[in-house]
Amino acid sequence: MKIFYNCAHCGAAIDVIEVDQVDEVKFGFDCLTAEERQDIIKVDTKENTMHVHSLCDQCIETLGLHEKKAVQQQINFLH
Ligand SMILES: [Zn+2]
Repeated sequence: MKIFYNCAHCGAAIDVIEVDQVDEVKFGFDCLTAEERQDIIKVDTKENTMHVHSLCDQCIETLGLHEKKAVQQQINFLH
């Protein structure tokens, strides 16, 4: 399965990785609530792809999120 990481703020493509199996613990998805998952992760079973909304480094800096520890922790989960 291909996993596309896109910035939820500016839409920039951050990263694309390919995995045989999605390890939810490794990716930190198990730390998300059901609502967060729906918001952040879109799975396309037909295309065998997964789209993950994250934030690019530039937006983290622009939004000043690096000062908000809780948010950054969440972002780190997804990398
Ligand atoms: Zn961005």
